Amino acid sequence: MATKKTILIVEDEPHIIMGLQDALEFEGYDVVAASTGRDGLNLAKQRKPDAVLLDLMLPDINGYQVCEELRRWDAFLPIIMLTARSQETDKIRGLDAGADDYVTKPFSVAELTARIRAIVRRASRTPGSSPETFQIGEAQVNLTAQTATLGGKTQRLSFYEVELLRMLQERKGQPVARDDILARIWGLEAATTNRTVDNFIVKLRRKIERSPDKPEHILTVYGYGYKLA
Ligand code: CA
Repeated sequence: MATKKTILIVEDEPHIIMGLQDALEFEGYDVVAASTGRDGLNLAKQRKPDAVLLDLMLPDINGYQVCEELRRWDAFLPIIMLTARSQETDKIRGLDAGADDYVTKPFSVAELTARIRAIVRRASRTPGSSPETFQIGEAQVNLTAQTATLGGKTQRLSFYEVELLRMLQERKGQPVARDDILARIWGLEAATTNRTVDNFIVKLRRKIERSPDKPEHILTVYGYGYKLA
């Protein structure tokens, strides 16, 4: 039997911890929880979790800072931010801080559990022997190292950015539906969360495109999805 995966929850609202803990333990995960950012960082050091659920608004240091700190230790640890705010800018900022995904409160526990399942499964996948690298326009992409290099600057790619690029690259020149992206990468039914994909595309364009506002490579197919040209 495979060893149990450990999920760290950093969240100051006890009822949210309880709800998530029940659902995740039912799914077979070990769950550890902290109610402040500093305790969360200490627990992450001690327990080496397989994924982190991180609240944005914490009583001591905020989720962005915790995320940046975690990212300094471990470039590949899956981090999902829990944000109570609805503004898209906060989500983008969370992704900038190094989060792989975000969920807006109030969230569906079933949906979050599906995302965790997807992210932990992919994170524990054994990489192939040769690094997956390719060129998109002027950008050099390395999916194994999770980096994109453009104009001499190398940036980390989040977990979902890697999966998005892999999917677009596989179907290069063909339109890829948002629904397909959500289903395959996030493990979600197409529905309410299409904005999720759009936010990741915005972030990705900043790392790949010379002029992110006038993309030449990662193109929008209106009313459908995206295409790698
Ligand atoms: Ca909070």
